[in-house]
Amino acid sequence: HAPRDFRALLETSRFHGDKVFLTYEDEHITYEEHFRRAATLARRLVDEYGVAKGDRVAIAMRNYPEWVISFSAALAAGAVAVPLNAWWTPQELEYGLSDSGAKVVIADGERAAKLTGADAALIVTRGEVPAGARSFTDVLGEVEAGVTLPPVELSPEDPATIFYTSGTTGLPKGALGSHRNVGQSPMTVAYSMLRGTVRAGKDPAETAGQRRVTLLTVPLFHVTGCFAVMITTMFVGGGLVLMYKWDPGRALELIEREKITGLTGVPTNVWQLLSHPDLDKHDVSSLTALSYGGAPAPPKLLEHITERLPSRAPTNGYGMTETTALAINNSGADYYAKPDSIGLPMPVVDVKIADPLGRELPVGEVGELCLRGPNVILGYWNRPEATAETFVDGWLHTGDLARVDEEGFVFIVDRAKDMVIRGGENVYCAEVEAALFEHPAVDDAAVIGIPHDELGEEVGAVVRLSSPASPEELQAFLRERIAAFKVPVRFWVRETELPRNPGGKILKTHLRREVLGS
Ligand code: ATP
Ligand code: MG
Repeated sequence: HAPRDFRALLETSRFHGDKVFLTYEDEHITYEEHFRRAATLARRLVDEYGVAKGDRVAIAMRNYPEWVISFSAALAAGAVAVPLNAWWTPQELEYGLSDSGAKVVIADGERAAKLTGADAALIVTRGEVPAGARSFTDVLGEVEAGVTLPPVELSPEDPATIFYTSGTTGLPKGALGSHRNVGQSPMTVAYSMLRGTVRAGKDPAETAGQRRVTLLTVPLFHVTGCFAVMITTMFVGGGLVLMYKWDPGRALELIEREKITGLTGVPTNVWQLLSHPDLDKHDVSSLTALSYGGAPAPPKLLEHITERLPSRAPTNGYGMTETTALAINNSGADYYAKPDSIGLPMPVVDVKIADPLGRELPVGEVGELCLRGPNVILGYWNRPEATAETFVDGWLHTGDLARVDEEGFVFIVDRAKDMVIRGGENVYCAEVEAALFEHPAVDDAAVIGIPHDELGEEVGAVVRLSSPASPEELQAFLRERIAAFKVPVRFWVRETELPRNPGGKILKTHLRREVLGS
């Protein structure tokens, strides 16, 4: 059953003893060592920094082993971990620290240099320790074999984490997650892996005893990295291989060297890995599962996987910061049968497609996707209005437009805000993008609104092509597939990759500015 809180999960992970949990370059940390360091750091936070239950402890670093240790320590001490986006500017980091009211921040040298004005006490690893701060090693001091977790009473409803949303539709909001959310997350993912194995036509008993080694391709400061990958690995006693930064060539080397069995990332990671010229030079036979999510997957990705790495069980997972990662997924045979669906909800998740008043719509109709379950967070930190707007009568309003078919498969139509309104007619960017992707020359596409005096907005598209195709040709192709008013009137061809955030989402504001100057 699901661990009732993170402390229970951490205590249990200790049974994996001298199995390696974290690998970073030539450093290896076993489950026992991880437990001891996390417990020791938790005690230091309590004894030396006065961290009490509910206090916030921020983490600002790359995917170093200390990220995981700091996260474990914060939660074990009863504090709320606040993972900050490592790519944020000094101003954004400052926003995260002051918005969360962090008492302590644990940072790497690169981030520490940007945090000089912070009110929070600073602990620094891997880099220069600024005046007034202390080094991670120094704070940890002697790690004793008999160390236990500091005493603290937790209930499943107690807050455990504040993750900031990507901020693609506005200022990032602090998503306040509970210990229940954290505890159920690996169960949900483990179930999804099981379903993936079964739907790929394999016998789960055959893989039951095998050690899972996962390559972490996404940042730990987003829920996919933290929950779907790190926490799940801890739960199943697998190995987690960390990278200094995402690099598909390096990933191929690590898959071979570490005998990686599974990889969970954003669609871009998988796409880049499959397209890498060195793919055939490496032995990647250990890799049996490929999963991705957190952003719309390019329709050609599935085909690409079938061609380049056949017989790998592919899974597309839908999740949000507000759902503690995974909520819905599509895998194996289901995925091949309905490649444009995000699949079926996890057993703990209820789905409702709602009209603007929150009333449930019949099967097949497009409305807002609403979710309910033990993975849905408590609300937004310090944002009562946003919380009241988004969490209504126990339902999380995702802001995504979707429909459900007779079999319960969910199809994302678009994000409520990723829409072009052309003369009062809604054009869902994702629909036009999907039609564009069907054209053999289109490698990537982003549909945007172009300001238009009469219509308010016109439809435009930025594309990346693998072979030449004229705007007229693309328009003719689209007119056979979608209504004429949805066909882009203007195309921009981009030579390089479309700009994406580390979560794999196309930065449309950025693109709009680039092509339209506004
Ligand atoms: P903000 O809410 O601050 O604007 P964000 O919504 O991008 O940021 P996240 O919580 O990281 O922040 O992203 C969740 C969103 O990502 C979902 O609402 C959905 O639009 C999109 N998404 C996630 N997984 C998938 C998927 N498998 N397919 C399509 N879209 C997905
Ligand atoms: Mg969102």
